[in-house]
Amino acid sequence: MGNPFDLSGKVAVVTGANTGIGQAIALALAEAGADIACVGRTPAEDTVAQARALGRRAEIVSADLSTIQPVQRVVDETLEKLGGLDILVNNAGIIRRADAVDFTEEDWDAVVDTNLKSVFFLAQAAGRHMIAQGGGKIINIASMLTFQGGIRVPSYTASKAGIGGLTKLLANEWAKHGVQVNAIAPGYIATNNTAALQADTARNNAILDRIPAARWGDPADLGGAAVFLASRASDYVQGHILAVDGGWLAR
Ligand code: NDP
Repeated sequence: MGNPFDLSGKVAVVTGANTGIGQAIALALAEAGADIACVGRTPAEDTVAQARALGRRAEIVSADLSTIQPVQRVVDETLEKLGGLDILVNNAGIIRRADAVDFTEEDWDAVVDTNLKSVFFLAQAAGRHMIAQGGGKIINIASMLTFQGGIRVPSYTASKAGIGGLTKLLANEWAKHGVQVNAIAPGYIATNNTAALQADTARNNAILDRIPAARWGDPADLGGAAVFLASRASDYVQGHILAVDGGWLAR
């Protein structure tokens, strides 16, 4: 039977793998045995070096996911460079902040195109390959705002709520092909994305007061959930959105 979390021989594509949550997930998957395609605008040289130091194959696949133009190439290049594609982690994402009454079309399109449209079309391109090979694992990175409204982030909230719905739809359609589609909803995680919040003492204290675990999450806190959802340990888990939030949603 062996270790149900073992990813040896699997190939994972991780978007936004150069930093933050994407880097931590890529390295957790590599620790568990997977070879890694690191997709993004900024070459994930450090992630690739660390994965190779673990004895894995790791490659950079350059792509700007603000449009869907590169999605098929990401799949093709991964297959060419690493000889397979078993796991997709749709992690790359951005946020724009403004009051709803002032929110611009540009800020709407930038966020929805990157966080939702590219997520769907990359899942579609990878899903076609996974269906043809008889299985695969897709993990979409959602948010607490998949469940809550938030404030001053209308396109982000819409994109992350959309990811929740899409995760369930794809799970429904692809379960019969052996493709599991699930999501992880991180709570407040200390990354570049949240650096301004951490630096604002009043907001930082309010956040810490509201989190039952009373600390920010570390990107590495997402690793276990990602390995679980990427591995055969989760073969009967479908369309689930797993919160890793220090208890934020439980409160
Ligand atoms: P970071 O800003 O640290 O990292 C975002 C990643 O996405 C970077 O690798 C970035 O690379 C990449 N990216 C952004 N735009 C593009 C693009 N157009 N094409 C390719 N890659 C792109 O953020 P986090 O690690 O914090 O966030 C990762 C995910 O987790 C996001 O989806 C975010 O919404 C989600 N999340 C984060 C939370 C947190 O508290 N940190 C909470 C809930 C969800 P580059 O800009 O160099 O191209």
